[in-house]
Amino acid sequence: MSNTTFTMIKPDATAKGHTGAILDQIIKAGFTIKAMKWTKLTKEQAGAFYEVHKERPFYGELVDFMSSGQIVAAILEKEDAVAAFRTLIGATNPAEAAEGTIRKQFAASIGENAVHGSDSDENAAIEGNFFFSKLERF
Ligand code: UDP
Repeated sequence: MSNTTFTMIKPDATAKGHTGAILDQIIKAGFTIKAMKWTKLTKEQAGAFYEVHKERPFYGELVDFMSSGQIVAAILEKEDAVAAFRTLIGATNPAEAAEGTIRKQFAASIGENAVHGSDSDENAAIEGNFFFSKLERF
């Protein structure tokens, strides 16, 4: 079990001014930010990031959305980070997310759902390496 996960605050949440509140909740939940950047993906970059979802019906919409505005990408550390972070953010669909979770509080829909959280240790490593070089993390 790895102690690292990867997150993005998605364009819906940055546009609505929720970045500070979301980072505050992540830190208060005990995660350490090991690397972080505020950036904007091109369509090509968003397409490459979500390549695993290429065959899913929502892929085109997801790529358009994720390249539509600014995002915050971060590598986070905590014991059992992947599972702990997915508990903190809640279900993909905010209508099904538990009370108090980040998606319940800040997400508008199953697509525009405020935050990303890696779903496995393997993907956390791949996703962190997509955004950050060794020099950009500690
Ligand atoms: N998504 C979507 N429509 C769907 C399911 C997912 O637009 O019906 C988007 C949503 O932004 C989600 C992302 O695709 O966060 C990745 O989907 P996944 O099933 O991996 O959910 P997650 O791991 O993010 O909870």
